[in-house]
Amino acid sequence: MNGKPHVLVLGGNFAGLGSAQKIREFCGEHVNITIVDRKDHLLFIPNIPADVFENKDPAIGQRMDLPPVLAQDHIEFIQGEVRGIDVDNHEVQFTPSERPGAAPGRIQYDYLVVALGNRLAYEKIDGFAEFGDSVSDIYLGNRLRRKLWDGGYKGGPIAIGSARFHQGDGAHGLEPYPGGTIPDALAACEGPPVEVMLSAATYLKKTGQGDPEKITVFTPAELIAEDAGEKVVGELLKIASDMGFNYVNKAGDISRITAEGIELENGKTLDAELKIIFPDWVAHDFMRDLPISDSEGFVITDLLMKNPKYPEIFAAGDAAAVTVPKLGAIGHQQCEIVGRQVALALGHMGDEAANKPLQPVVHCIGDMGNNQAFYIRSNSWFGGDEQVLKMGHIPFLLKMQYKNLFFRTHGKVPDWGLDFSKLLAEKISA
Ligand SMILES: Cc1cc2nc3c(=O)[nH]c(=O)nc-3n(C[C@H](O)[C@H](O)[C@H](O)COP(=O)(O)OP(=O)(O)OC[C@H]3O[C@@H](n4cnc5c(N)ncnc54)[C@H](O)[C@@H]3O)c2cc1C
Repeated sequence: MNGKPHVLVLGGNFAGLGSAQKIREFCGEHVNITIVDRKDHLLFIPNIPADVFENKDPAIGQRMDLPPVLAQDHIEFIQGEVRGIDVDNHEVQFTPSERPGAAPGRIQYDYLVVALGNRLAYEKIDGFAEFGDSVSDIYLGNRLRRKLWDGGYKGGPIAIGSARFHQGDGAHGLEPYPGGTIPDALAACEGPPVEVMLSAATYLKKTGQGDPEKITVFTPAELIAEDAGEKVVGELLKIASDMGFNYVNKAGDISRITAEGIELENGKTLDAELKIIFPDWVAHDFMRDLPISDSEGFVITDLLMKNPKYPEIFAAGDAAAVTVPKLGAIGHQQCEIVGRQVALALGHMGDEAANKPLQPVVHCIGDMGNNQAFYIRSNSWFGGDEQVLKMGHIPFLLKMQYKNLFFRTHGKVPDWGLDFSKLLAEKISA
């Protein structure tokens, strides 16, 4: 190569793309950057549920081609399946995934950013393949969309909820806010079930098939979406119960899905025609038992997103142990930190500008159908003191506009975009 240090970024969705762009921004042309991802586009996962409930194909609206976006920043792209990381020899093994039969490759790095997300482990749920539904990718989203809009769904009860998340020990002892922690979560990400529950109610009403009493939402935890803070969740639950939704907490794991419903670990069975499930978020198999990984295969970092034993290795997004809940908004905060840390390591930024540790904020805008959405901004679960909930049309506009802005700026959503969202959602819709 050209003698410049090589930063290798594994994963090219939100956290991988964001980290690579921030590294380019803070290091200029002093580094070579390569992204490896098995697919050559970014999938805008958070807007798949809205597409499903509006009968739109997410394959059309939620993908952004990566190569032209990366070329603007001189970031190399390899479409390949990552197979393993040799942390002692600074090497990653991959197989090009453009077409089958490719010979395996190896690539060296000076700095590594692991942004590979997780495996959404539907295969661990007995009966999911035959009787379950979800909205986490294009295939599942379109399958549910067809059931909802092409006559497959007959108007029966709907159950929506999460399997139990198995968090590792990689974030224990971190203190993001004075006296705070990265808590242990029983569900990986519960904004989506809340969003789907509200959107499903709007769908039922719009199609004349019933009201929220047909819908049961369940959680393995004491409180659904507990990361949003007790006050916010209390308000949400009050609104939901006034609307007629059914709620089951402390469900434990999902034991089995059948044609008739969902069997929960706590012994309850929920009758349901539609079973919309969010599974366990599990680390990729090859991440387990690496010296950089925690007890469940998530990458151990400090609050500067750096592995303590291998300081040339960073993690961002869902792959990082510290990302709890598994939320794109928290990954977004981490990309900035990774960019600054790599710039610090290479001498392009000073300590003061670079060493700004993660203070996670749950920032979530969920579609409710009918051009309405809820907006949550909270850090109280981690020891902060903010908990904001708003509902209405402005949060909906923000959710849609955020995606448009993201695509228009090729992922470089300006900070003012987020501040502006906060202003609009919290002041104007107050
Ligand atoms: C239905 C749903 C709705 C959501 N809504 C919201 C929301 O409103 N707000 C929010 O903040 N978060 C939301 N989330 C969570 C959000 O989608 C994730 O936190 C976010 O996608 C994580 O980004 P990431 O880049 O870390 O991982 P991912 O988005 O999972 O990306 C990982 C990338 O790594 C690649 N990859 C994985 N393994 C390999 C391999 N072995 N080799 C090569 N490439 C590989 C994948 O192809 C992918 O491109 C939602 C999640 C779901 C499921």
